[in-house]
Amino acid sequence: MSEARWDVIVIGGGVVGCAVTRRFALAGAKTLLLERGRDILSGASKANSAILHTGFDAPPGSLEVACMQAGYQEYLDIHTRLNLPVLKTAALVVAWTEEQLAQLDGIVSKAHENGVDDARQISRQDLLGRETGLSTTALGAVEVPREYVIDPWSAPLAYLKQAVRAGAGYQFDTEVKSGAFDGEYWHLDTGQQRISGRLVINCTGTNGDNIEQICRKPGFEIRPRKGQFLVYDKSASALINSIILPVPTATTKGVVLTKTIFGNLLLGPTAEEQQDRNIATVEREMLDGLIATGIEMLPGLAGHSVTATYAGLRPATQFKDYQISAEPGKNWIGVNGIRSTGLTAALGIAAHVQRLCGETYSDLANFGPAAAAEWPVMPVLAEHEKRAYQQGDGTEIVCHCERVTRGEIEAALDESDVPARSLGGLRRRTRVMMGRCNGFYCSARVAELTQGRISPPLAGHEKDQS
Ligand SMILES: Cc1cc2nc3c(=O)[nH]c(=O)nc-3n(C[C@H](O)[C@H](O)[C@H](O)COP(=O)(O)OP(=O)(O)OC[C@H]3O[C@@H](n4cnc5c(N)ncnc54)[C@H](O)[C@@H]3O)c2cc1C
Repeated sequence: MSEARWDVIVIGGGVVGCAVTRRFALAGAKTLLLERGRDILSGASKANSAILHTGFDAPPGSLEVACMQAGYQEYLDIHTRLNLPVLKTAALVVAWTEEQLAQLDGIVSKAHENGVDDARQISRQDLLGRETGLSTTALGAVEVPREYVIDPWSAPLAYLKQAVRAGAGYQFDTEVKSGAFDGEYWHLDTGQQRISGRLVINCTGTNGDNIEQICRKPGFEIRPRKGQFLVYDKSASALINSIILPVPTATTKGVVLTKTIFGNLLLGPTAEEQQDRNIATVEREMLDGLIATGIEMLPGLAGHSVTATYAGLRPATQFKDYQISAEPGKNWIGVNGIRSTGLTAALGIAAHVQRLCGETYSDLANFGPAAAAEWPVMPVLAEHEKRAYQQGDGTEIVCHCERVTRGEIEAALDESDVPARSLGGLRRRTRVMMGRCNGFYCSARVAELTQGRISPPLAGHEKDQS
């Protein structure tokens, strides 16, 4: 067994783990990210609604709202330097019943309590004037001007790339199975390797309570909550201008209609408790129900086709708030229960975890001189910006649905920070094979370009789950 020693080991390469790795690497810690999947985003962070939330409806005074608002602000502060997109759509929380209409006042008050001062109620007339495709059964809305849409995949990748440039390491296909603390170092066992680090940060999403057992009895239980989505063809995105949110209930934000950063229209998610922590399947019956709900809100949807479906598992617990805590004397921080707001909150969570580390472990407060931040420039994948094919990168288009060039595919495979090594990773880095034909036309060419570069190979690939 080989053995390497790190200052910090982050377990789990979801958006939270990537942001935490970045934070500690930039602070000068020798940081390693371990991910059991073949790429980052093998769990909940692969499949979300991609909304950058203001926190207007989060529980006031919660850790969640604090992390969301810090994360929101840091994302806006750094996105230009990382070349990460923002679609400034605003959101409208729409009331469809008299009962919901009566709740709009409370939603505005809560938003103001959370510091989202520009949230305001608008009349039915204003709403239907702004959103002409909406069913006329809508009764009124709350406008939240600073709710935006971002790229759920490029953002965490950018965080990890920046961490790597600051000296961080990462290992995929590496599942932490057990570990022991010797009073100074954790020794984590992956079956093939023993990897040692002074501080362990558990960011394993739906596996969070199992991994906590390595250090302590977890004070929570993961209760996975599935969300299923439908992606409509790009033509449908013209049906709305803003993110259309329902009035939230105690357990869910409800079914959302939103443009995606890639120019599609997204409908979902559902909210279903399930036992399985790893597999999120889509079900015909639920999707039919979603389609019906979508058409009720936006009748024009009936004329548009669905090009993809997907599902994600929220790492919910029995508690409403995030479960983030450090174990005194054990050099262990658990970052758990990051349910449906982790994309927004990730950078804020990372800052919170760094503070918690300083407060709990005085000997770990300073790891070394802070690294000089390098800013990787992410490729342009957003539909509202100028893509590679429009800038004439000198190579042919391979995927005609999403207009992905050979140059973009080769860059994702060749880059040195965190290259794509699986089909899923390549798709998320380039959009290749993610269009309406689902790769029917371009997969042979993609198989040729990726031969010997991705695992498993595309030829004979049944259905990519990575
Ligand atoms: C339906 C849905 C909608 C959402 N919508 C939004 C939204 O609009 N806006 C927003 O801000 N957030 C949203 N989110 C939340 C967002 O997707 C966050 O990613 C999520 O909250 C959890 O992120 P995470 O990094 O904690 O967990 P994950 O993304 O699940 O990451 C955990 C990682 O740990 C790895 N792992 C597990 N066990 C081990 C082990 N033993 N060894 C090594 N690796 C391991 C897993 O493979 C996984 O990659 C949504 C989530 C869902 C499911």
